[in-house]
Amino acid sequence: MSDLTCQHCGHTFEPIPSVREFRDGSLHYQVNCPGCNQFCKWLSQGGPPKLYYGKHKGRAIKDVLKEDRRYIEWLSRQSWVDAKLRALLVSALQESDG
Ligand SMILES: [Zn+2]
Repeated sequence: MSDLTCQHCGHTFEPIPSVREFRDGSLHYQVNCPGCNQFCKWLSQGGPPKLYYGKHKGRAIKDVLKEDRRYIEWLSRQSWVDAKLRALLVSALQESDG
């Protein structure tokens, strides 16, 4: 992902979205400006849950889980991870357990 420039305050930053689940169950990735905290844009929407930062950025959680389970376990324990993403990571780990 390339940097974004905020239309509200002009701040340039790397987009780190938070995950939103809509009423139909689809996932959307919302980016807010870290400078002024206003909504900037939606990133890719729909499809399977994805990681949107780190070494596996842009890949589906379940695909990364097959190759690098330790990373998913580690990420799911980090306090800075978006709550919704953490819930997705935890449920992916639980599903693959059984
Ligand atoms: Zn801004």
